[in-house]
Amino acid sequence: MSADELRRRSLRRVWHPCTQMKDHAGPDPALPLVPIVGAEGVWLEGADGRRYLDAVSSWWTNVFGHRHPHLVASLKDQLDTLDHVIFAGFTHEPAVQLAERLCALTGHDRCLFTDNGSSAVELALKLSFHTWKNLGQPQKRRFIALTHSYHGETLGALAVGETGLYRNTYEPLLLEPIHVPSPDCSDRAPGVSWEDHTRARFRALREVLAREAGTVCAVILEPLVQCAGGMRMYHPVYLRLLREACDEFGVHLIADEIAVGFGRSGRLFACEWAPPAQPGGASGIRADFLCLSKGLTGGTLPLAVVLTGESVYEAFYAEHREGRAFLHSHSYSGNPLACRAALATLDLFAGSDVMGANRLLSQFLWSETNEALGRHPRVGEIRQQGMILALDLVREPRSRRPFDPTERRGLRAYRHALASHPEGGAVLRPLGDTLYFMPPYVITPKEIRWLVARAAEAVDAATRG
Ligand code: PMP
Repeated sequence: MSADELRRRSLRRVWHPCTQMKDHAGPDPALPLVPIVGAEGVWLEGADGRRYLDAVSSWWTNVFGHRHPHLVASLKDQLDTLDHVIFAGFTHEPAVQLAERLCALTGHDRCLFTDNGSSAVELALKLSFHTWKNLGQPQKRRFIALTHSYHGETLGALAVGETGLYRNTYEPLLLEPIHVPSPDCSDRAPGVSWEDHTRARFRALREVLAREAGTVCAVILEPLVQCAGGMRMYHPVYLRLLREACDEFGVHLIADEIAVGFGRSGRLFACEWAPPAQPGGASGIRADFLCLSKGLTGGTLPLAVVLTGESVYEAFYAEHREGRAFLHSHSYSGNPLACRAALATLDLFAGSDVMGANRLLSQFLWSETNEALGRHPRVGEIRQQGMILALDLVREPRSRRPFDPTERRGLRAYRHALASHPEGGAVLRPLGDTLYFMPPYVITPKEIRWLVARAAEAVDAATRG
């Protein structure tokens, strides 16, 4: 099918996710629908013959580039062996190996499989409540979450999130969590360090915990970067303080590493960044529930897991007649193809110093972006955590005065970066007026330079006037 035909037929029958479909309509649409026919490495191949650098890793899923040969070969092999089997009452090698490897990597004991990030969050919320219920504390049924958080789109996950754009419409249907102020360091006062700001923001959470812990099952958060809420970043001391407070007040900690897991934060898992409790102690915390998805399969197939510890497992382990089992399932739980893709992804992490290589790439991304956009009169503070770099388009950087959202400056930048350059486009799908780079780890310095140049042109074009 030609690009035009694909676009026309897609717009006639497909309802695309997270989209006002009218934005795609007409001869000069606000948001161009881009037909894609193939992909390799960091590049998407358009049906129009153009190439597009996938700077958002296809919704943050792709870590080792598109169609990585090891992932392709593993999936082909798995297809010749076992496609899918009901996972209640049956088991198989890819799931067993994957659970073992994920437990070894994270320090958890038990692995529950599901098939997308939102489902993993639902599962963690239900598990937390149900654990307390099985332990004789059914009154613990509320959740604490951070403002600006995002945990997915199903009703439970949407409820704990606090990104109004997605949540407000459904408010009447939702659980009512307690939202506490985000430690987002772009909010800090001039001269205040990231750590001091983060510590100060933690006080609000501690007070709520001290007051409400008797009826709270868990605190849920995105460690270090609140991604969909605008790539808001904070200091890792928050994770340590939270772990200690959750232990002190008897509340679970749910770490949603769906976006930041698998190396995105600069470590394999963002929870590893938590500083030691005392000097000389071990860094890193273990959540009571760790949610993973996206990068888990290297961006090939839907899969998610929730990892937890033996004490949670034991709260459910009983004679059938006691009715304590966790009766939650999805048809594709533990899908062998997806598990095999995840195993192949873990092979790639084990096979080379991915974090070391990413450190150099992140530094290069940082210096290139700062050089190109650091003093731009319409760019706010540039921030970075590992392989995530973000910046906001603002009317006035010093006062952080934003643009009028109806001007859709971020969208203008996106359009410009996609279409303007003869060599190809860059996919810089924004979050409102926040632009970010979250590329696959196989991006080269040359491609980073090219990407930053496209972003700089797009920022210029989008912020004129
Ligand atoms: N949690 C976080 C932190 C996410 O970033 C996302 C997806 N952007 C989700 C949950 C939901 O995952 P999914 O889109 O696979 O349902």
